[in-house]
Amino acid sequence: MMTRTVYADHAATTPVSEAALEAMTAFMKEHHGNPSGLHSSAQAAKKALEDARERIASAIGARKNEIHFTSNGSEADNWAVKGAAEIMKDKGRHVITSSVEHPAIIASCEHLREQGYEISYLPVDDNGEASVESLKEEMREDTVLVSVMMANNEIGTIQPIEDMAQLCKDNEVLFHTDAVQTVGHLPVDVNELQVDMLTMAGHKFGGPKGAAALYVRQGIKLPPLIHGGGQERGRRGGTENVAAILGMVVALEESIRGMSEADKRLRAMRDRLIEGVLSIEGAHLTGHPERRLPGSASFAFDGIEGESAALMLDYRGIQASTGSACSTGSLEASHVLTATGIPETLAHGSVRFSLGDGNNEEDIDHILEHMPVVVERLRSLSPLCNCGKKED
Ligand SMILES: *Cc1c(COP(=O)(O)O)cnc(C)c1O
Repeated sequence: MMTRTVYADHAATTPVSEAALEAMTAFMKEHHGNPSGLHSSAQAAKKALEDARERIASAIGARKNEIHFTSNGSEADNWAVKGAAEIMKDKGRHVITSSVEHPAIIASCEHLREQGYEISYLPVDDNGEASVESLKEEMREDTVLVSVMMANNEIGTIQPIEDMAQLCKDNEVLFHTDAVQTVGHLPVDVNELQVDMLTMAGHKFGGPKGAAALYVRQGIKLPPLIHGGGQERGRRGGTENVAAILGMVVALEESIRGMSEADKRLRAMRDRLIEGVLSIEGAHLTGHPERRLPGSASFAFDGIEGESAALMLDYRGIQASTGSACSTGSLEASHVLTATGIPETLAHGSVRFSLGDGNNEEDIDHILEHMPVVVERLRSLSPLCNCGKKED
């Protein structure tokens, strides 16, 4: 019965773009040197690595020596939060973040709490937005770091980080943003945003898994993440994955070139999808109605389990997710959805579609044809099957 496969889970990861794939395979066929060596193969790899660093930097308005390669977004998030807290510990031990961050940030903050730091979580409104006013209220003498994401992976809400970064700058507090969902999708310039640190991950914009980066403003000396050789200016030892880094760069430049067109196309599809899904009874949009990522359409449905819906959609050729991909498998309702004030039972019925380059209008038709059927099926089953439901 499966006629069509619709991949609508781009917020979890994206397919690798043709251009990135080509650049990587060509590089791997020709080059095998270790960038730390002296001979010509090594130097060719070193040159490719430094060229990639330069290009990543210029794509986000940074300087070359401010880019630190990591292997994924979680690693960069961990490094930023724990590293910044470490260098500032004599000044203070209070860190502020938001209640809708990716687990890489929340778990890093919780780790800091165990080390004696105090963590404040900014509340969000019904749309998932944290306010500058609440940041102002939480700011203290001993606040040393604020980390607020640029856009949310589950509900797509874009945070007012320019204003937050400005407030931090005025108070001499370090500001980090997890921009994994925005780099390659919306304009990102570290100087316009005035952030001190920023996380990006290649596989969220058409690059391969295995390459990501942390921007760290010049002058901020994060402690080494991995002790070892002199790689990444002595801060992250280990032989670099040059091919993957090259793939990330190519994908980023490609995404930036096509950004305004992709933005228009995705928004149009997203809005049609939202409108169509909201015509299903008991369907609610989660996240901000306007200030949201161009490809993000996320919902919560009365009377269904998001996991069952995602599985049933998959059977019908539609790949979507429920809550955060990272917490799937656990029965806890998404912390993001509950932070927006959605009751826990409704939060269990969340389904997220995240659109990307490969999607077209027929994909939207396909989703709109199947989603109402799936919801109806699950609701008709639910009095019989209580599986996965938590006690209230
Ligand atoms: C995917 C994601 C991460 C984690 O990136 P990985 O490369 O999967 O480790 C962090 N933050 C946000 C907002 C994300 O969407």
